[in-house]
Amino acid sequence: MATQTKKPTGNTGKMKDSQFHEFFIDELKDIYWAEKHLVKALPKMQKAATSTELAAAFEKHTTETQTHIDTLEKVFDLLGEKATAKKCDAMAGLLEEATSIIEDTDADTMVRDAGLILAAQKVEHYEIATYGTLRVFAENMGHTDVVELLAQTLANEKETDVALTEIAESYVNEQAAAE
Ligand code: FE
Ligand code: FE
Repeated sequence: MATQTKKPTGNTGKMKDSQFHEFFIDELKDIYWAEKHLVKALPKMQKAATSTELAAAFEKHTTETQTHIDTLEKVFDLLGEKATAKKCDAMAGLLEEATSIIEDTDADTMVRDAGLILAAQKVEHYEIATYGTLRVFAENMGHTDVVELLAQTLANEKETDVALTEIAESYVNEQAAAE
């Protein structure tokens, strides 16, 4: 199989002007938009949840999402960039889907919770993919301090995904199946 390799250009010092750096900043703006919209959507999901445990999980992740926003602002700061949000079509779509799930399921049912968990896990997986990639980009560019910050958020998104699976598997799916 052909491997695509390029000769090293030794332009690490000029990294800030590189297209890769620009792309990295653009993707940070995208996830910044995503987090800022998610922090507004999570309380609605909390309110819509049937079980107190799922509502508590959404409440917890609302606080954590605010931390992700603050962390991104630190990242922009460390990179000498202004924190600006750029519309993330993926998150907009995922949040639209969450709204439809609430509309399509009855309140006070476990089917509602099963649906909310599905919607939330799609969001978390999107975030995991994004932070996973951005962390590696930061590593490639030698932004060690940024790597650490993105890794913290990534770890929290993964924990959230696991916590949602636990709720689904402990009683939500079983009770939804019995409704
Ligand atoms: Fe997040
Ligand atoms: Fe998250």
